Amino acid sequence: MELLTIGAFAKASRLSPKALRLYDELGLLTPARVDPDTGYRRYAPEQLEQARLVAWLRRLGMPLARIRRVCAMDPGEAAGEIRAYWARVEADTAARRDLAAFLVDHLTGKDPTMSRTTAPLSLRYAALSDAGRVRPSNQDTAYAGSRLLAVADGYGGRGALAGAAAVDALRSLESETAPAGDLLNALEDALGRAERAVHGVSAPDDGTGGDSTDAGTTLTAMLWTGSQLALVHIGDSRVHLLRDGELFQITHDHTVVQSLIDEGRLTPEEAASHPQRSLLLRALGRGADSTPDLRLHDARAGDRYLLCSDGLSTVVPAGDIHRVLTDTPEPEAAVRELVDLANASGGPDNVSCVVADVVAQA
Ligand code: MG
Repeated sequence: MELLTIGAFAKASRLSPKALRLYDELGLLTPARVDPDTGYRRYAPEQLEQARLVAWLRRLGMPLARIRRVCAMDPGEAAGEIRAYWARVEADTAARRDLAAFLVDHLTGKDPTMSRTTAPLSLRYAALSDAGRVRPSNQDTAYAGSRLLAVADGYGGRGALAGAAAVDALRSLESETAPAGDLLNALEDALGRAERAVHGVSAPDDGTGGDSTDAGTTLTAMLWTGSQLALVHIGDSRVHLLRDGELFQITHDHTVVQSLIDEGRLTPEEAASHPQRSLLLRALGRGADSTPDLRLHDARAGDRYLLCSDGLSTVVPAGDIHRVLTDTPEPEAAVRELVDLANASGGPDNVSCVVADVVAQA
């Protein structure tokens, strides 16, 4: 078999000799032969296809280590890997798009309290948390106040304390009268306090035999500004919005199974019964990725928000949640009804619900 010089191979593969030398150094495309005396690289014609694949994957922005893996796969496997990579890129981009929108709103000083043309809005709310039918204690925390709505689902030895500490750290936002423009900073500061509080709860074991070191919590909260709701979300608690009769889930679970769904490796139906469906990718806790999703939602009179822990969403079908939210005008009655539904389905987990209505002030 005639080997090609690096120049000829570069021409045939439409890659530069410089790129080919780099791919060799990175272990992405090893020449068929390297002359021991001159160091000249020679390539086999059948390596052309792989050279082109490497070039295309580089153009996609795929990290080198992953390109190396793809090149070692058979075509079917490689296709799956590229699909998974791209789904992840799109999910990351979506999260950054939300943050960009938040910053644009923040920097343009979007403050509808200044340009309000309709009646002022306020929240009518209720919160309820229940241990469920199986767990010996309740590690969830649910909170609703005139400005703050929050659900935290603690885990580990001191999970209940972790969740409560996280929500408690946010509660200072209730009384802070930060200018609307400082909202993002106020939220960041509060999240920092929440994270430190959780770390304090799950301090390294002091030798007393407790299993506190793995304690952590999810945290999903909304802060009312008078015209908007700022959403902070870490973990697998959820927020739904009932608007114009339709129910939307406005948070994205930070779980292993959700990322598998995003990557097309798992269907939502398979995920529902997946043994590791509660494994979190993000949480507040030692060693956990605590990067929050942050978003601003314009409030509209008539909107109804539901914050809930996974103790509700894993056992009560979305259709039933929709029905209760639609048919139960009073927030107190709605949270009671939702918790009862979870318990009627076996109540396998702690369950927490916050329902908040955006209402025009009389
Ligand atoms: Mg739970």
